[in-house]
Amino acid sequence: MTTEQKLMTEPKMTAFHKGRAWIELSREALRHNVEMLKAKLPDGCRLMPAVKADAYGHGAVLIAKELNRMGVDDFCVACVAEGAELRRHGVKGEILVLGYTHPEQFPLLREYQLTQTVIDYSYALTLDSFGKKLHVHIGIDTGMRRLGERSENIDRICGIFERKNLIVDGIFTHLSASDTLTQQDREFTESQVNSFYQVIRELEEHGYSCPKVHLQSSYGVLHYPELAADYARVGIALYGILSTGEDTEKWGEFLRPVLSLKARVAAVRELYAGEAAGYGRQFVAENERKIAALAIGYADGLPRSLSGGVGAVLIDGYKCPVVGRVCMDQTIVDVTGVPHVREGDTAVLIGCCGNQEISACNLAEQAGTITNEILSRLGARLDRVIV
Ligand SMILES: *Cc1c(COP(=O)(O)O)cnc(C)c1O
Repeated sequence: MTTEQKLMTEPKMTAFHKGRAWIELSREALRHNVEMLKAKLPDGCRLMPAVKADAYGHGAVLIAKELNRMGVDDFCVACVAEGAELRRHGVKGEILVLGYTHPEQFPLLREYQLTQTVIDYSYALTLDSFGKKLHVHIGIDTGMRRLGERSENIDRICGIFERKNLIVDGIFTHLSASDTLTQQDREFTESQVNSFYQVIRELEEHGYSCPKVHLQSSYGVLHYPELAADYARVGIALYGILSTGEDTEKWGEFLRPVLSLKARVAAVRELYAGEAAGYGRQFVAENERKIAALAIGYADGLPRSLSGGVGAVLIDGYKCPVVGRVCMDQTIVDVTGVPHVREGDTAVLIGCCGNQEISACNLAEQAGTITNEILSRLGARLDRVIV
């Protein structure tokens, strides 16, 4: 292999790893989550991990290849580019594109052997007019009102099966309220499930042999594991956490977080009484403090809303609050109580350190969002390693 080829096939060279700020992925945690989720599913139902958005920030190629080794080989992504990246790195199995693909990109669906979602009947006509065979799954809208042909339009759904260039491998819907178990949301989810199965029955009555069916994402599997399907499109749960701290606590025993986020201490400084640190001189030391600059910032996905002591990091098992404003590439923290901290040390932003832990849920709560957003925004500049 030439150096050039090597650079193309290996996403990062080892020498760059852990240089500045990085993500560590636990293979054991991933394997554990795969086994636990599989055990929840009815016989014959397979995992179809959602590895969109760079596998929720974890690194799609690393995660998908690891999953391939664990015998998982069905995936879903948001767009063609994500699917193509997986293929270029040798990921095997079915890759379903959940979102919209512009007709200019239809050739890529064939080149990279991707399966496209049929967004509705009119999109089926667009796909068909490409003139070459395409593998598709039909999206059915049962209440999300985002993508999918409406479940009551059975004639149009049958019409999709009639397109001669479309090879229909699957049909699916998406549950919009399966994450909460209030009476109202349970009833709504049941109505979605019923409408979906009704479509399948009617298709069979019309003589269409129904391909693979799927409807659950993470919360669908956890809250409604008994639903009959061929695939479960799990995202967040596979990564070992749930969208909120409360849910993660509830399922905490059952899942293990895959991702840790770490960064180097770039410099340790004295801050004298009355001095300010960072942009806008927002933080002013009342008394003498010791502060450290970390080599990670909001461009790496660390929310800027953790500024001004809202967030904290762990160094040597000590909790060190954020000082002043999070910068694009750097963040200052207060290390006054940490005895031996020096340049080159490791700070933990998500994960365990000593007997302390900061979870993605903690960050999500501090930033006023859900873990899915925190994780999926972790930047491309971070190195990603499996440990
Ligand atoms: C993202 C996505 C999933 C995965 O959702 P999680 O809640 O992370 O498990 C499943 N299905 C569709 C259509 C999605 O867009």
